[in-house]
Amino acid sequence: MLALNERLYDTIVIGAGIAGISTAWWLKKSGQKVLLLDKKGPLAGASGAAGAFLSPRLGRGGDLQKITNEAYRFALRFYAKRVPEGFFQKGLVRIPKDEKDAEKFASFEPFIDVPFEKVTASDFPHIAPEAMRFGAFFFKDAAFVDPMTVAMRLMEGIKTRWGFDAKPVYRKGAWHIGQFSAENIVLATGADRLPVKIPYIEIGGVWGERVDVRSDAEIPVTLHRKLSVSANVEGIVRIGATHVRNDSRSEIERVNQLIVDAVGLVPSLQDQQIVRIYAGHRSSVSDHFPLAGAAADAETALARLGKPSKSLKPEDGSIPRIGGLFLIGGFGGRGFVFGPMMGKMVAEKIIQNSPVDIRVSPDRYLLRFLRHH
Ligand SMILES: Cc1cc2nc3c(=O)[nH]c(=O)nc-3n(C[C@H](O)[C@H](O)[C@H](O)COP(=O)(O)OP(=O)(O)OC[C@H]3O[C@@H](n4cnc5c(N)ncnc54)[C@H](O)[C@@H]3O)c2cc1C
Repeated sequence: MLALNERLYDTIVIGAGIAGISTAWWLKKSGQKVLLLDKKGPLAGASGAAGAFLSPRLGRGGDLQKITNEAYRFALRFYAKRVPEGFFQKGLVRIPKDEKDAEKFASFEPFIDVPFEKVTASDFPHIAPEAMRFGAFFFKDAAFVDPMTVAMRLMEGIKTRWGFDAKPVYRKGAWHIGQFSAENIVLATGADRLPVKIPYIEIGGVWGERVDVRSDAEIPVTLHRKLSVSANVEGIVRIGATHVRNDSRSEIERVNQLIVDAVGLVPSLQDQQIVRIYAGHRSSVSDHFPLAGAAADAETALARLGKPSKSLKPEDGSIPRIGGLFLIGGFGGRGFVFGPMMGKMVAEKIIQNSPVDIRVSPDRYLLRFLRHH
């Protein structure tokens, strides 16, 4: 039997992927008593499958690019400081697929808001010169992390429970999950169904694979051209990732194709041997921005706010809340980029009730829901 005070927490975080682990880390750092639960174990979802590349977004300077690259800079500093043993800053070569893509890259160039340089085939002799015929951009700060090393380090000192399929219930001013209770809960459940229904939030998923191979190939930097091939660290190269939508091929066919494409990019990878195949569901929402913040009480909002005008913005004080219910996720293919910064925002929302950035606030979906109801 657990003593009563061992079952009482300030916050219970549900889901031990990078979203939940980052949030739990920031909460604990602020002095909260935190419990982290997962229905399977740490990194059982997409976070365990990720190549965990930290790469910037290219674009024409829109909000999604800006926030992704803010999160990218934040994540680079965060992992370098907190988990240096699992952080590999090898740089990234982004290579256009074809002539059309090269034109797109050129149009993105004025908007690149992170350090980069233009490079050619002679700068990276390990890459097939044919693949580099349109040149490439090199991001020297880009990196990748080892997901399990990150998870283990960030979870130090946090109470955890594995094999616990959480079904939270709100009763008498607190959240109850089995024998545990807390003032707040954070849903960090990835592409799985939210264990508390939030009628205006729909999270989808895209399946994908990554394969690790053993190789002696000298690959000093990571490269990305349709697929990513990591720098070689201690004889292991990560190749990924596929985006499986309406793909009738089997997993093994997709993995074989990944390897064929990787060898096409880096011919010295021909000697490789498959070590392990990973697969997982990346969670995403329709606008591709992350979700981080407090849940609203949709029913009360409908009664009180009706069809709100365009001037009502996410995080407005008039939006009614469900006591102590928070969510984080929808990170798409960039969970390790978004995790640390979004985790901090959610922790600050819980502790100080500070508004989150309106670009990531779940309220944007509440307002759409109310306007279309
Ligand atoms: C093949 C592949 C390659 C990728 N490559 C990269 C990359 O290079 N760089 C990058 O930044 N991102 C990458 N991603 C994306 C990244 O993995 C995701 O964005 C990120 O892992 C999502 O983290 P999460 O914590 O939101 O979800 P998840 O990691 O899916 O975690 C959710 C967790 O919640 C648990 N859970 C769900 N419901 C419950 C419940 N009711 N009770 C208890 N536990 C529950 C699950 O068991 C799971 O462990 C990749 C993804 C895939 C699949």
